[in-house]
Amino acid sequence: MAKAATAKKAVKKAAKKTVKKTVKRAAAPRAAAAPSIVAAAPTQTSPETLVDIPAANTFNQNLSSASEATMLGIFGVPGAKTQDCSPATGAFKQRIVSLINVGPFKVSGLDIAVQLLKAVFDEAEQQIPNVVAAVKSDGMLCVRHKRMNASSFSNHSWGTAIDLFFGHAAVPQGSHKTHRGCLQLAPFFNRHGWYWGAGFSRGSVDSMHFELAEQTIRHPPPTS
Ligand SMILES: [Zn+2]
Repeated sequence: MAKAATAKKAVKKAAKKTVKKTVKRAAAPRAAAAPSIVAAAPTQTSPETLVDIPAANTFNQNLSSASEATMLGIFGVPGAKTQDCSPATGAFKQRIVSLINVGPFKVSGLDIAVQLLKAVFDEAEQQIPNVVAAVKSDGMLCVRHKRMNASSFSNHSWGTAIDLFFGHAAVPQGSHKTHRGCLQLAPFFNRHGWYWGAGFSRGSVDSMHFELAEQTIRHPPPTS
């Protein structure tokens, strides 16, 4: 008897709850519905959507690209200045850590860069997990010259830069567009001392590219 009464009460309670919910939902304006963050197909808000690079004063604040002079002064000559990736032969090689899981994928690069990359993705995971789930790496450590200037080493040469993309292919250097996902990740990179290549001038603009900033190279965090 007591059991039946309790059950009856529970049913009544559940019914009441459902009614309440339905009313609330119906009353809510359509536009206020939260955007889905698990959209399977590309949509306007998908991280692989191409968007314009925003105004230069909205990112990379107090950060600059690490100059070749600084990189050579601190880490030395990384290897041969080739067009494609060649072996790392410089003394900095001892600071390269290999196949480290940074969240969305594994990378090989300079110890502090890998540490700070993991910090970026850990923080981004808390706020934009759909972006972290979709991000892909187009490479980190690669000893070679800059694509737009064969006389200078790319910062990929010391494993302090990484190229990122969403969907099927990276946005080529020189394009003033970016994958929305790179734009969404940029503040997290900036907070952890990374410079976003979307800030390179004119034809060197490179929205897939993130590198440890000059300031971070000069004043690195303690390695953990
Ligand atoms: Zn790059």
